Amino acid sequence: MKLAGFYDESISNGLGWRAVIFVSGCPHNCENCHNKEAQDFNYGTEFNSKEIIEKICDNSILKGVTLSGGEPLCKENVAEVLKFIQSLKKEKSSLNIWCYTGYTYEELVAREDDVTKEALGNIDVLIDGPFVDSCKAPNLKFRGSTNQRIIDLKNTLQNNSVIELAV
Ligand code: SF4
Repeated sequence: MKLAGFYDESISNGLGWRAVIFVSGCPHNCENCHNKEAQDFNYGTEFNSKEIIEKICDNSILKGVTLSGGEPLCKENVAEVLKFIQSLKKEKSSLNIWCYTGYTYEELVAREDDVTKEALGNIDVLIDGPFVDSCKAPNLKFRGSTNQRIIDLKNTLQNNSVIELAV
């Protein structure tokens, strides 16, 4: 997996100050994708997990980490994304994890593979669904289009029913 981009401090990709990691590679090809270059799995630089974790843990202002892309949860990326989250949590368990995905929650659950299941279990908030240009709404918080949901994943998994986060 390659790294398409990294913000060391952001307040527009989730609640609180967050580091944002953009992974390379995305199969969705949404119309008017806001990050077209990151659709290419070979775009960007080496994903150096150790270096990224060190940068994040050195910054005491951060409340969490947001995974974006590209597509963090496609079959090509999900195992490495899971490994990264697990290593990060070992170093600093207080950080909460938000993740953008072009898949819906229901599509991810229907995959029934252990890696995806474990990845979902390690994410606190999932912003799901592809970017749909006809549903674009510039004033939406943390989302590009109205079809996307900000899902409280911990509660959703516990209750087996989608619970959206009020932001
Ligand atoms: S999911 Fe995101 S990165 Fe992928 S094509 Fe859609 S807008 Fe672009």
